[in-house]
Amino acid sequence: LALHKVITVGSTGVGKAALTLQFMYDEFVEDYELIKEGTYRKRVVLVGEEVQIGVLETAGQEDYAAIRDNYFRSREGFLCVFSIAEMESFAATADFREQILRVKEDENVPFLLVGNKSDLEDKRPVSVKEAKNRADQWTVNYVETSAKTRANVDKVFFYLMREIRAK
Ligand code: GDP
Repeated sequence: LALHKVITVGSTGVGKAALTLQFMYDEFVEDYELIKEGTYRKRVVLVGEEVQIGVLETAGQEDYAAIRDNYFRSREGFLCVFSIAEMESFAATADFREQILRVKEDENVPFLLVGNKSDLEDKRPVSVKEAKNRADQWTVNYVETSAKTRANVDKVFFYLMREIRAK
């Protein structure tokens, strides 16, 4: 069974763990304290073929550059997450992109820009246009998700797996 190794990256509090847990267990976890560091695995059918996806969730050790680089090196695909309700987290995606490209040395690394918390649409400082512009600049896809309502949650993980398969 093929295993696709991915990771969610982004500022603290944007919903990385919530997205992973929603994808894995169909549950919205409010209390992030419950989240354990580790690789979450799920079997899925991708274009008629059964594969496994392994999503790495870290618990803050990625603040150390050497550890972070090792996490990135071991992964094939990246979900770069920000919150549409927090401008700083959008700005931070550029740093994550840069760190990933430096480690992977591949401009075409499987990568999606993800605007999470789309349920908070009424108070969004980050516009769709702005986010799309950045994604276009990087030639990556942009998708908005809500780990709370489950909107587009499967979609981002499946898009990413398809990009990995296409490599
Ligand atoms: P992480 O630090 O990026 O892993 O973020 P968490 O998954 O711990 O989420 C941070 C906080 O945002 C938690 O209180 C979550 O319940 C909340 N959260 C995560 N995703 C969403 C979402 O899509 N919508 C809303 N409204 N809250 C969310």
